[in-house]
Amino acid sequence: MGAGQLGLMLAHAGTRLGLKCRFLSPDVEAPAGRIAELVVADYENDAALAHFAEGLDVATYEFESIPLRSVRTVSETVIMRPPVGALETAQDRVAEKECFAKLGIPIPAFVPVGSMRDVRSAREHVGFPAMLKTRSLGYDGKGQSVIRNDDDIARAWVALNGAPAIVESLVRFARELSLISVRSIDGETAFYPLVENHHSDGILRFSLAPAPGSPGALQTQAEGFAHRLLDELQYVGVMAIEFFEMDGSLLANEMAPRVHNSGHWSIEGADTSQFENHLRAVAGMKLGSTEMSGAVGMVNVIGREPDLGRLREMADVHVHMYGKTPAPRRKLGHITVTADDMDGVRSRVAQVRLALSA
Ligand code: AMP
Repeated sequence: MGAGQLGLMLAHAGTRLGLKCRFLSPDVEAPAGRIAELVVADYENDAALAHFAEGLDVATYEFESIPLRSVRTVSETVIMRPPVGALETAQDRVAEKECFAKLGIPIPAFVPVGSMRDVRSAREHVGFPAMLKTRSLGYDGKGQSVIRNDDDIARAWVALNGAPAIVESLVRFARELSLISVRSIDGETAFYPLVENHHSDGILRFSLAPAPGSPGALQTQAEGFAHRLLDELQYVGVMAIEFFEMDGSLLANEMAPRVHNSGHWSIEGADTSQFENHLRAVAGMKLGSTEMSGAVGMVNVIGREPDLGRLREMADVHVHMYGKTPAPRRKLGHITVTADDMDGVRSRVAQVRLALSA
């Protein structure tokens, strides 16, 4: 369910596993439709959901903001992996944070808010500066703003247009990391190396894998948190957890119950890509190795078409374009660079970013 670039890359992995994939999206131009069967219909259209589900062995979702009811409807006739409950938890920041807290996974201080007065009094609970975020449907920095003082409160609250929200303390993190993990139907788990992520304006710009200078203890801590979450949710498939690193330990920001932008490097960089491992898990196969050798960087192509000719001439540079119409802040593709070590990756990432900004 969903047929964006994540669907496109799942379809590529499906081809290599000999699986036949069908996608559902309201967008007739959805990227996965370029290479796989696409049912074009609104997610709320029950007849289309039944048509989509007809004859499937297993269903999954690649789009987090998909209406929960639609996923539940399909799950009544087809095995749904990851389970609907994982999506339900991830769709509501309060449920997600309560789940983290219950499992002893550290999170920034937060408080749910439903009025401007609540936002004002949030100051006592979480301190300012803080971030106001919608409880649901927020991605790539949408539905978020920083509040530093009383003047910011009214502006930020009005921008949300009455949507239920949370106020969360602004974390002065050293860096952002993510962990891509996968759990099979037998409960077997595998983890990719932690990835270092660089955002601006709430959008992921580039990632480095493995996260440079990360002690084994950090990886162990992240895997421990992921393990608890995967088991709690009886999860099957790939899950990403985004972390803030502060003073050598991790605070969880959010989870994504799907393949994730910060795992795209695994197509070239790991023995088995996150896309193949997701399909292996949901289709009940044995997981593939998540080992990597050397170092990898991934740079997102955002907003406008790049000079592909220039990128293709560069050594160890792999171009992935999703066939989407350019629009501001839209992810149109990504570029993966590989090298023997992180110094090599850093210089290639810098060259690619320069080429993209030209
Ligand atoms: P999110 O949609 O929660 O993943 O937020 C998008 C990006 O905004 C994150 O990757 C961070 O760069 C930034 N961000 C989100 N929450 C916080 C926070 N509590 N403190 C500092 N930065 C944040």
